Amino acid sequence: MFGVPNFSLRLGAAVCAVLLLAGCAGAGARPQSEATSAAQDGRPVVLATFTVIADMAGVVAGDHLRVESVTKAGAEIHGYEPTPDDLRRAARADLVLDNGLGLEAWFDKFVDRLDAPHVTLSGGVETIPITGGEAKGHANPHAWMSPAAAQVYVANIADAFAALDPEHADDYRANAASYSAQIAALGDELERELASLDPARRALVTCEGAFSYLARDAGLAEAWLWPVNSERQGTPQQVAATIDFVRDNRVPAVFCESTVSSTAQEQVADEAGARFAGVLYVDSLSEPDGPVPTYLDLLAHDVRTIVAGLTGADEAAGS
Ligand SMILES: [Zn+2]
Repeated sequence: MFGVPNFSLRLGAAVCAVLLLAGCAGAGARPQSEATSAAQDGRPVVLATFTVIADMAGVVAGDHLRVESVTKAGAEIHGYEPTPDDLRRAARADLVLDNGLGLEAWFDKFVDRLDAPHVTLSGGVETIPITGGEAKGHANPHAWMSPAAAQVYVANIADAFAALDPEHADDYRANAASYSAQIAALGDELERELASLDPARRALVTCEGAFSYLARDAGLAEAWLWPVNSERQGTPQQVAATIDFVRDNRVPAVFCESTVSSTAQEQVADEAGARFAGVLYVDSLSEPDGPVPTYLDLLAHDVRTIVAGLTGADEAAGS
């Protein structure tokens, strides 16, 4: 069926019609996270390190591959510690996908123990260095937040899948092309909507310095409370420096990410006379019934939250 010898063993495993139906019904693009059902439906298994790239991979895979994520929705990715169960799932995977650029601090040790090939999705992205903290000078890992760089991820996924499963290479490339067009459209929306802003106030202030790539795409200056999660978060010095930036630049609104506490940023907003304009999603998708179950939802949510905050549309809507 797949025309690849490596996969024939999997076809011998009990194929459960119920699982096949569940996996194919409507949302074939959704990553599966149940360890027990892995490798039971005959499709090659792709294991991604976190929910965002698992979703991207799921869109490109369509129904041909089974895509899972190591971490669950809402999990912190930087400081994650793989469990024995993660290792068992990874041992059954035909391909492992990671972000790279130091995002998964735990990944080198993890992948050393596996036989499956792995592909780093940020390969070929023009990186931006971290400008503060212990990781200063290293590449900022959050490249998927750039609509432009995300299209490099999608192309890398299509290449990896074509190598894994050449029989369906045309499908992977077609899925990647239409997906890339959707991502590009959100990037265009961000630039278009922010074009009318006073250039002096074109600044994005967040908790983690996770938006360097998105800010570059949108022509925004960037300020943050701390450079990378898992370092010191929300210290008095960080809060004071961010208040100064917001005051000096008369930034109208500040933001914080879903996986960290927003307390320090709300203090910045209070003391600098700005609005706390909402939660942004970066390091994880939400649960399926939450606000950002897919990467496209995540990007659209962030683009629209940033635009509404900086243009004052959120204030008008709320009063
Ligand atoms: Zn992060």
